[in-house]
Amino acid sequence: GDRALLILYDQLNLEAFPKELLAQKPLIIFVESRKYAMVIPHHKQKLVYILSTQRHFAIACHQQGFPVLNLFTEGFHADAIDSLLAEYPHLALTYMQPSEWDTRSQFESLAHKFNGRVQKIANSFFIANAEKYKPKIKKGYRLETFYRELRKQTGYLMEGDKPMGGSWNYDKENRKSLPKKIVIPEIPEIAPDAITQEVIDLVKSYLPDAFGNLDRFSYAVTREQALDLAKLFMQSRLANFGAYEDAIKTGEPFLFHSVLSVYLNNGLLMPQEICEMAIAAYEDQNNLDQNNLVPLNSVEGFIRQILGWREYIRVYYEAQMPTARTQNYFGFTNNLPQLYWNADTDLACMRDAVTNVLNYGYSHHIQRLMVLSNFSNLTNTDPRQLNRWFWLAYIDAYEWVELPNVLGMSTFADGGILASKPYVSGGNYINKMSDCCAKCKYDVKEKVGDQACPFNYLYWHFVDQHRDSFAENGRVSLMVNTYDKKTDPDKQAIRDSAVKFIASLDSDKMVQPLYRD
Ligand code: FAD
Repeated sequence: GDRALLILYDQLNLEAFPKELLAQKPLIIFVESRKYAMVIPHHKQKLVYILSTQRHFAIACHQQGFPVLNLFTEGFHADAIDSLLAEYPHLALTYMQPSEWDTRSQFESLAHKFNGRVQKIANSFFIANAEKYKPKIKKGYRLETFYRELRKQTGYLMEGDKPMGGSWNYDKENRKSLPKKIVIPEIPEIAPDAITQEVIDLVKSYLPDAFGNLDRFSYAVTREQALDLAKLFMQSRLANFGAYEDAIKTGEPFLFHSVLSVYLNNGLLMPQEICEMAIAAYEDQNNLDQNNLVPLNSVEGFIRQILGWREYIRVYYEAQMPTARTQNYFGFTNNLPQLYWNADTDLACMRDAVTNVLNYGYSHHIQRLMVLSNFSNLTNTDPRQLNRWFWLAYIDAYEWVELPNVLGMSTFADGGILASKPYVSGGNYINKMSDCCAKCKYDVKEKVGDQACPFNYLYWHFVDQHRDSFAENGRVSLMVNTYDKKTDPDKQAIRDSAVKFIASLDSDKMVQPLYRD
């Protein structure tokens, strides 16, 4: 029969497909699924990004001599293929294993229905062989061991079998707060071309109630544009990536982060090539500006994120789904506070983080972790609601990557399979790493009462309420002891402040943008 190849929304790179298959010049099929866009009210810029990159990629495939079919469906991706296979009995379809669970099961049913006509190939957008590591995850196999194995496997930053510079980890050098006068290089904004503009109009008219702002869209939409941004990152921001990895500055959503996850996660960029570009920048400093020489702690920190965390997170997803979705270790029942939808809050750190998300579908890692997740934990929010929010709100969010980060790394919803302790902190740490507190209505030095930074008393309240989850962890069980040494009136004041603050959040009703449909 005639061979067709389905390329899904996050598989936009021909390098990842078998050469023998491509040599047959199959009909390449793309699907634009309205239902996928509507399961949750995804950020408008994410919808624009997914559709625009896919359309640009379809054109690029056509220009390389492939016949291309672009389908639109009211249903899911598999629904469009279902009709097509029914209509054309001679058509045989190859598809690559989808990265996301639901899309995967839809295609499994399809393969079953059209027995023999649908062929699945393995997903080759990742570096690690998930099958090899899956069984280990359940047994407390942590990032650090996994990362070292992958360093050896790839030879990245290795001198023989030793890590370059003699150490596997330079995180100690990577927790600097930002000097006041430091210059943060700008990321060029890419103006929407005609294709992107068409998609912007489409999203505005079809899904006006989706989350987020669409006043401006400036992401890359082709591989060439994304590669240019990656090169620029290596030249201008990688040098400081490590040192200021954990810093926050109001009004500066990107700092020295790469902002490449969005391109890595749909195939415009491949993880190997980005790691290799960073290593090349480190090894050949002649090409770099004297002010931007790349230190080892930066390049190692960057490789750790992509080769370590990103790959580890994906293996976790493969190992833990589908149960990972439903977990709620602490049994939290509060709804996600309304401020996650509109940034309407007096807490300066939360306001800045949510504003970035509304404007860019992005905030950097430490805002995701130390501000947005921390606050959710401390207010006893149902982690599955936070998970849903992260999935819809971020331009780089696909279930395989956001879910382990939210339900594993930052909320401890899995009870400690991914992380060793819940991620919580008081206002002091936010103050140390950011400039937010100086601009905040609340006082970070105050411990309790209406003027005090809510992170302060909420933190102690959390330590008290969930003391068991800290018990095994030396550093944090110290905090339990510190709490226990407080006087009874102090403890009472902490409890009162915490209960009052949590009750003051508009979380009794679940407020969120809904579709009109
Ligand atoms: P950089 O700081 O420049 O890091 C370089 C690259 O490393 C990133 O592009 C990314 O590909 C990779 N990386 C770093 N940390 C992680 C991680 N923990 N997991 C996976 N990859 C990582 N990342 C997503 O890609 N999609 C998500 O939906 C997502 N949701 C998150 C939710 C929470 C609560 C947290 C704490 C983290 C989440 N992350 C997610 C991980 C990380 O925050 C983002 O990858 C990163 O902020 C993307 O921005 P960047 O490209 O500028 O990253």
